[in-house]
Amino acid sequence: MEPVEIANALQINRPQLGNMTGVGLYRLFRLVAMEDILGTGASAISYYAGKKMGKELQIKQLDDFLALCGELKIGRIEIPVMTKELIHVDVHECVTCSGLTPIGRALCHFEGGLIAGVVEGILGKTVQAREVSCIGGFGHDTCGFELRFRT
Ligand SMILES: [Zn+2]
Repeated sequence: MEPVEIANALQINRPQLGNMTGVGLYRLFRLVAMEDILGTGASAISYYAGKKMGKELQIKQLDDFLALCGELKIGRIEIPVMTKELIHVDVHECVTCSGLTPIGRALCHFEGGLIAGVVEGILGKTVQAREVSCIGGFGHDTCGFELRFRT
């Protein structure tokens, strides 16, 4: 089966509708359809899909990743902690969950995987992201991700 490459998927020809769509469409796919079919497995698959994509983007600088997040409107990104042992990334207005009535579990595995994959590509270390706060999961102010490294 021929894969759809990232660059190909992002070639958008919609003269009247443009390249933006509603956040609702993404959420119906990610939170409703995927979980309906895959159950709890949707979280892990979303994480690994995000991570694989994050690496394949071949981003070399953090600024380029922040620009991409802005362009795709994934969320507003802040990085309040960046040390050799730990990076903490906060996503404000998260595309997956901001505005949901909290449901009691973290939701943003795709975003966590994406961040981990991009940082792994930049640093050349194995990176694992854990979602430690979630707007739509728990009612936190941001979706926060702790990144830890294995060399
Ligand atoms: Zn979240």
